Amino acid sequence: MSVHIQTPHDLVRAYQSRAKKRFGQHFLSDPSILDQISDAGEVEEGDHVLEIGPGPGTLTWVMLERGAHVTSVEIDRDAQSHLTEHLGEYERFTLVSGDATRMDLTELMGGLESFKVVANLPYNVGTDIFLKLTASGAPISLMALMFQREVAARMVAGVGDSGYGSLSLFTRLHHEAKIALVLPPGAFTPPPRVHSALATFRPVEGTRIPDLERRDWFERIVRATFQMRRKTMPNGLKKLGVEKPDAAVALEEIGVGAKARPEELTFEDFDALSKLISAG
Ligand code: SAH
Repeated sequence: MSVHIQTPHDLVRAYQSRAKKRFGQHFLSDPSILDQISDAGEVEEGDHVLEIGPGPGTLTWVMLERGAHVTSVEIDRDAQSHLTEHLGEYERFTLVSGDATRMDLTELMGGLESFKVVANLPYNVGTDIFLKLTASGAPISLMALMFQREVAARMVAGVGDSGYGSLSLFTRLHHEAKIALVLPPGAFTPPPRVHSALATFRPVEGTRIPDLERRDWFERIVRATFQMRRKTMPNGLKKLGVEKPDAAVALEEIGVGAKARPEELTFEDFDALSKLISAG
């Protein structure tokens, strides 16, 4: 094979275009960071990996060198031609051109028994892609995704942590989530204004609430109550047609009290509440 790339730096050197702000481009090239990301995604020979936003392709290359099959979705034409030129010879590499937020990513990986998602993606599309993939029910065995640090913190937050809210609870419903790596701005070229964090998500089979009707209530309760984050729980529950006295009884029964605000309730509290309310 005539692939002449020896290190990620060779790919960055060969990349002729400037980083484009409109595509949220902040590139990585440090081999140890790229290895840590691939380790967090447990990328191994024979794996199938979906990558969003390969850019110059350094992470792509590291995963290909590990023997994985990599499907990368890239929006930027300049990056696309660079990737075709430098990584096109890997039979295990598939480049998909276009906007990942407008694609059916599950269909893209269609037919596979399972796949992983590993990406240093642009901040502005990260949450969208994460929510889309999570809701898709695709057979994903692990995701390792880079976010702005505060967003990753919201995803893994529990009661008492800053950023605890509906995103934390939605994440916990579907995944075992952890922060695997925090990177300062200087790890990227050009450096972004904020810190970044790589989070890993291991799906919980069938979600933590397998019963569909109860899960639906859980999601509605979380959404309605956190929309009124500063108000007590009964105010949010009212929007779902639960009268205040009934809400108070239910909240007493799960042991949090009628004056509790949504951010004081754990995942288990919301789960218990959805059980009571869905049972009428
Ligand atoms: N993964 C690379 C590049 C990160 S920068 C690295 O770590 O160095 C983010 C990349 O996502 C850029 O290549 C950018 O062009 C691409 N991108 C931005 N928006 C996108 C979208 N909607 N769909 C697909 N790719 C996108």
